[in-house]
Amino acid sequence: MKVPLLDLKTQYVAIKDKVDAALQEVVDSQLFILGSTVQACEQAIASYSQCEYGVGVSSGTDALLISLMAEGVGLDDEVITTPYTFFATAGSIVRLGAKPIFVDIDPVTYNINPHTLEEKITARTKVIMPVHLFGQMADMKLIVSIAEKHNLCIIEDAAQAIGSEYEGQRAGSFGAYGCLSFFPSKNLGAFGDGGMVVTKDSVRAEKLRTLRVHGSNPKYYHQMIGGNFRLDALQAAVVTVKLGYLDAWTTARQQNAKTYTTLFENTGLGSKGLVKTPDILTNRHIFNQYIIRAFQRDKLRSFLKEKEIGTEIYYPGPLHLQKCFSYLGCRQGDFPESEKAEQETLALPVYPELTTEQIEYVVDCIHEFYRSEK
Ligand SMILES: *Cc1c(COP(=O)(O)O)cnc(C)c1O
Repeated sequence: MKVPLLDLKTQYVAIKDKVDAALQEVVDSQLFILGSTVQACEQAIASYSQCEYGVGVSSGTDALLISLMAEGVGLDDEVITTPYTFFATAGSIVRLGAKPIFVDIDPVTYNINPHTLEEKITARTKVIMPVHLFGQMADMKLIVSIAEKHNLCIIEDAAQAIGSEYEGQRAGSFGAYGCLSFFPSKNLGAFGDGGMVVTKDSVRAEKLRTLRVHGSNPKYYHQMIGGNFRLDALQAAVVTVKLGYLDAWTTARQQNAKTYTTLFENTGLGSKGLVKTPDILTNRHIFNQYIIRAFQRDKLRSFLKEKEIGTEIYYPGPLHLQKCFSYLGCRQGDFPESEKAEQETLALPVYPELTTEQIEYVVDCIHEFYRSEK
């Protein structure tokens, strides 16, 4: 049985008529840049994320970059974040001349550990950038209280977390800025690149809108130096249609995660310390990824590949050990939980259209691997 890590074709077939019609409407109008299609998308996503304003941008990476720009982050400023995330989180900080200050993760949630965060704050700290990794939110209650105490701005990297909740409140609505990605493999994926910044602050929303059109307002009169950070109308049309399905897809992902965890419990692999399933917390986890910790992870991954099961490692090489950040002077051992997670974790297929038979096959194959390893 083939079990790919992600199957976007099946999703597309199920919604083809509606998406195609929405795309055709944009093509017929020939209005490709901003306009009513992008506006409708912004309003829908902002409201879904419990925010007043949405500013459509060209990618999740640009959502982070433009938020940092709007906050005036630049040379010699420090931004506190996690080394266990996709490159763009720290990359966007460095592109503006600022310095990423890493804080290790909580090994249970894989998110920044707020208990060791406060000691990293200096006079140069401007922003805290937590990441809600794999679809589960960071400990925002503590992070918000630390930020308030030290008068710091929060920019949430919610690229993997649209619709996830912490005590009933949605990702992106805690910080001054919430950064979303519509990269095709995210829970709400476009047909290409796209992203959005959501915010509750009208002044910040206006600044973001100006920055995304080269800092001009009105057109050709440049108030500040921005860039071309616009969300494409074709992508906005796709995202708006897909948003109508997002809650059902999330429920399916959560159900798949539950099925995995139950089946793993039946194997007894957990009590032998061979496979650790994600802890089901009470907050709304949207399972962009279902992550296990696995004994002999790399060998298991090769075994699953032979069985035609797609898996992935998120992300090989924590950021503090990446070549391009060597000037920061971090060393192996500086962030032990991030380094350990990078060595032990494996993402299994969890996409909404996955069948129970496929999940059973994945767990059976993993069980078989550990039996043959003995
Ligand atoms: C995907 C992702 C990004 C970047 O989003 P793009 O749309 O690919 O630019 C940033 N941060 C995290 C945590 C991500 O998963």
